Amino acid sequence: MSASSDPPPVVIAGAGIAGLTAALALARAGRPSIVLERAVHLEEIGAGIQLSPNASRILVELGLRDALAATAVEPAAIRIRDARTGADLVRLPLAEVAARHGAPYWVIHRGDLQAALLDAVRAEPRIDLRLGAYIEGAVDAGDRVEVDVFFGERRGMVRGAALVGADGVWSKTRVAVLGGEPARYSGRTAWRAVLPVEAVEGLRIEDLTGATSLWLGRRAHLVTYPIRGGRLLNIIAAVDGDWVEQRWDTVGDPSDLKAAFADWPGVIRDLLAKPQSWRKWALFAVAGAPFARGRVALIGDAAHAMLPFVAQGGAMAVEDAAVIARHLADPSRPVPDRLAAYASERRGRTAKVAGAAATNARVYHLDGLAAGARNAAMRLMGPSRMLARMDWIWGWRDR
Ligand SMILES: Cc1cc2nc3c(=O)[nH]c(=O)nc-3n(C[C@H](O)[C@H](O)[C@H](O)COP(=O)(O)OP(=O)(O)OC[C@H]3O[C@@H](n4cnc5c(N)ncnc54)[C@H](O)[C@@H]3O)c2cc1C
Repeated sequence: MSASSDPPPVVIAGAGIAGLTAALALARAGRPSIVLERAVHLEEIGAGIQLSPNASRILVELGLRDALAATAVEPAAIRIRDARTGADLVRLPLAEVAARHGAPYWVIHRGDLQAALLDAVRAEPRIDLRLGAYIEGAVDAGDRVEVDVFFGERRGMVRGAALVGADGVWSKTRVAVLGGEPARYSGRTAWRAVLPVEAVEGLRIEDLTGATSLWLGRRAHLVTYPIRGGRLLNIIAAVDGDWVEQRWDTVGDPSDLKAAFADWPGVIRDLLAKPQSWRKWALFAVAGAPFARGRVALIGDAAHAMLPFVAQGGAMAVEDAAVIARHLADPSRPVPDRLAAYASERRGRTAKVAGAAATNARVYHLDGLAAGARNAAMRLMGPSRMLARMDWIWGWRDR
């Protein structure tokens, strides 16, 4: 319930990382919001997410430090490894990253992140979270937006000062309201699984549960890190190749994964054989979306879904949320100007980060001589130059 002196609410489509963070950031700035989420129950997929300092700083400033730190892990390092030998190409000490940027580098179960955000949202009187609310479209009526919503079978209208489309890669707000393009399949697939750490104890892989490891091999790469207070190991295996179904998320057949990693070393194949079940995700990207028009704007994957190969899609959603809340809370300008200012601040940065992810997609999957040259370059660069190369991403601050 909003306080009666509050300005009209901002309507937010979607209660993912982007939508929940935006609602919280708006509330902290004194702005009410109505969050409309199509899911009847909010539950996250059983997988992890890396929260680099550019994102964790914002979440900490929103008051989530204790809730997140209770289950997040701060691994000792990110180890970029040659998959053939397991040896480090470069080892990035994460305590140094946290000190350098003044915020932790967390890895966390998505369910734990969602629970922390949801608890904070539910404790905020300025946020009205409505589940089972599917946004069908919206009209910019000049002095307000009118959002067309299905609450189950019942159709209704929700009015607000602005509509923030945080409705993910398949965003209705982007396509139906702003006339943007559908997401495009990247030609890559990510396989995800989670294991209790006891299940990997017998494997002869150094530091599997204490660090984030990025294993570079032929036409594929693998990422592993501990989550849920170190009790679970998160595994992501990214492979090239067209997946004709092009569906977003489905149960994967482990024999397909086995074939993709057939020429990888035995210890890695043993690791990949451990999970009972895998989910596979076709990786889609959104580029060139209209970030804002009139009283409607996009944030998170709705605006710029990107390949996960710099682990920044969620972090960009958190940054977007902070920036759009700052602009929307500024009463000195009309709402369309505030959203246009948000768009011009975010378009360039998110495109540059998406570009870095696309570059990594190529570099990580090199083969033969080119892979050898990449490995030599990484070794030569060493941790300090490698860390400095990440400053523009991890060191970002919202003024
Ligand atoms: C394999 C993989 C690994 C990744 N690893 C990382 C990482 O380590 N670090 C990182 O920062 N990012 C990572 N990402 C990216 C990150 O997961 C996403 O960028 C992030 O989750 C996007 O959040 P979002 O809130 O924008 O969208 P979503 O999480 O998709 O949320 C959108 C919400 O909108 C709702 N919705 C959709 N349509 C409607 C509608 N019409 N009406 C109402 N509600 C609607 C949906 O139900 C959903 O709740 C990874 C992605 C993948 C695929």
